[in-house]
Amino acid sequence: MRDLSLYIHIPFCRQKCLYCDFLSAPASDDEKKSYVNLLRREIKKQSIFYQNHRVISIFLGGGTPTLLPAEWIGEILKQVQSCFSVAEDAEITIECNPGTVNKEKLENYITYGINRISIGLQSTDDEELARIGRIHDYAVFLTTYRLARGVGFQNINIDLMAGLPGQSVDSYRKTLACVVTMGPEHISAYSLILEEETPLYVNQSCYTFPTEEEDREMYRLTEKLLTAAGLYRYEISNYARKGRECRHNKVYWQRGDYVGFGLGASSMVADIRWKNPEQRESYAVCVERMPGKMESLQKSSFLDMLRKTGRLEIQELTETEQMEEFMFLGLRLMKGVDLESFRSTFGTSVEAVYAQVIARFISQGLLEQEGKWLRLTPRGIDVSNFVFAEFLL
Ligand code: SF4
Repeated sequence: MRDLSLYIHIPFCRQKCLYCDFLSAPASDDEKKSYVNLLRREIKKQSIFYQNHRVISIFLGGGTPTLLPAEWIGEILKQVQSCFSVAEDAEITIECNPGTVNKEKLENYITYGINRISIGLQSTDDEELARIGRIHDYAVFLTTYRLARGVGFQNINIDLMAGLPGQSVDSYRKTLACVVTMGPEHISAYSLILEEETPLYVNQSCYTFPTEEEDREMYRLTEKLLTAAGLYRYEISNYARKGRECRHNKVYWQRGDYVGFGLGASSMVADIRWKNPEQRESYAVCVERMPGKMESLQKSSFLDMLRKTGRLEIQELTETEQMEEFMFLGLRLMKGVDLESFRSTFGTSVEAVYAQVIARFISQGLLEQEGKWLRLTPRGIDVSNFVFAEFLL
């Protein structure tokens, strides 16, 4: 049986954060309910293709999945359980915005088998939170975090952001210091990216952003303070206690198979990538057109089905593209890429394909090799995007 990960997209938020370009928006209860029904139909219909797969992780993301009544989350997961073979120890994560859960909701999540919760904090500074349009302040986050711990969540992630408008190195240091005292198992710390057409992008001249030097200092502080608190960096922007790395995200970086359900959700299975429609109406048509059963599960019939159901960006990756992804996704992990695995996957050595680029980066101190592992050095991490680009053939 092949391992499979499932992503379930819940595209609803109480209000849009000013930096956000994800597929999410406020919606009425009726819209939410009819979306959940559609989602359940999609899960059922898609499952026919994965009867020889074992689900090792499920990620309910968004948007804000915790905005939905807990029972609806239960129904979605029940649908998954009845259609897929889910491993007993599967990692099941729900993304949560502070203030959108109470004790009862959280207890229900545990009953449904959810064993990991990811809470979007971003900053402990209330002014910074208000400036980026978050729906909560730090006190609300604290209540949510404590409730989650109180009901028994033993695997909690906190999302943080650096480079926010009006953020100083000192305030970022305070955020890190406060967060580590709470003892989360996992922290994701990303830098703000100004996405075009978001209010923050459009009005950027009204804000003061940290300078490049301050940004770098925040970046260094993240590693210093989180490492000192016993969280180790296992990916460029992700830190965890040993054994608490996010299994679901590792599947993306290691090019495992995953299927996305819901509006605009992406999938990659057996080196075929595709995306669900992003408009509610075309998504409904897509689910309607999905076959209830398939005579043949051959690649050509599968691709044909993707096209007929209106999936977007359908791409059968060439071997070259697979090699590129293997390198630039795998190098995000601090452990590096497994050169033996490269050879067994592609039947050729990494040197045969990338000898020059690897030799150059090793001599420049941006990459290092230890046994079968090739990884970024600390200097290489600083310029990782530049390094990744050189692995495009
Ligand atoms: S909560 Fe997340 S998905 Fe929703 S608007 Fe804010 S950043 Fe976007």
